[in-house]
Amino acid sequence: MHLLIDNILPTLRFAPSPTGRLHIGHGWSALMAMDRAAQLGGVLRLRIEDIDGTRSRAEHVDGIIEDLRWLGVEWSGEVVFQSRRLALYKEALGRLQARGLVYPCFCTRAEIAAEIAASGSAPHGSDGAIYPGICRDIREDIRALRLERGDAHCWRLDMARALDEAKGVPLLWQEDRPDGVRDIEARPETAGDAVLARKDAPTSYHLAATVDDAAMGISHILRGDDLRAATDIHRLLQALLGLPTPLYRHHPLLLDANGKRLAKRTQGLSLLELREKGVDPTQLRADLRAGRFPLGIHLAKA
Ligand code: GLU
Repeated sequence: MHLLIDNILPTLRFAPSPTGRLHIGHGWSALMAMDRAAQLGGVLRLRIEDIDGTRSRAEHVDGIIEDLRWLGVEWSGEVVFQSRRLALYKEALGRLQARGLVYPCFCTRAEIAAEIAASGSAPHGSDGAIYPGICRDIREDIRALRLERGDAHCWRLDMARALDEAKGVPLLWQEDRPDGVRDIEARPETAGDAVLARKDAPTSYHLAATVDDAAMGISHILRGDDLRAATDIHRLLQALLGLPTPLYRHHPLLLDANGKRLAKRTQGLSLLELREKGVDPTQLRADLRAGRFPLGIHLAKA
């Protein structure tokens, strides 16, 4: 089955979380997305993933836009802010709730850690130990009571039920490599019962990104290798919510001279610092496009 959206303008997005300034790896990723959009005769959109009310900051949004403009990354249309689209995510969650595919989870981190320690076995996914399912099978009346009295909770996907419901749809996504497109079988079960709405927000990254990619007509997604496991979850959500599947291209992550992943807090590698050091953005852009990275930065091995 061909799952790509037909007859639409090829559309990519750069989707930073405003939890700090952009580093050179973000700049590289954004440039690649812009160039891929141009190559396809399409457009790049900018989406600010600011659902995390405690870590997202307005000043970082301004900073990110300034950093991208400095580097010469251009996007089309209005900037999309996830914090203004919460009703959309709520609606999608409601559809999953109505089908019994999600359940409220009242556990604290400490409770989950204690359960995992006590069980002696701790299957791991890409985000660490898998949630052991404590709240999946609690009695319906207790669940209703706790919801009614307003106990803090997130909403988790019941992975087994979801996979059962998605049966019949081949859970494939396509990796769009420069040397050809390859089918990849999604294995969302490795993530366990993923969180779809957080305790502090009516959505999680997974739900918001999946809903928005469809709503924004995103046909091609270019993002880092660290989000491969997320792609498996997004593919399942697309099947459950009846959304189209974009083509994906995951690029290697950049490592610093010590072999550590670049992070927003890593000193010296932010676009702002490079700018303040007098780096010429035209030269930097040419270097990044050619895969020449400063300061010992290099590609992680796939
Ligand atoms: N907001 C995510 C991040 O900054 C990127 C999400 C995505 O590209 O799907 O890591």
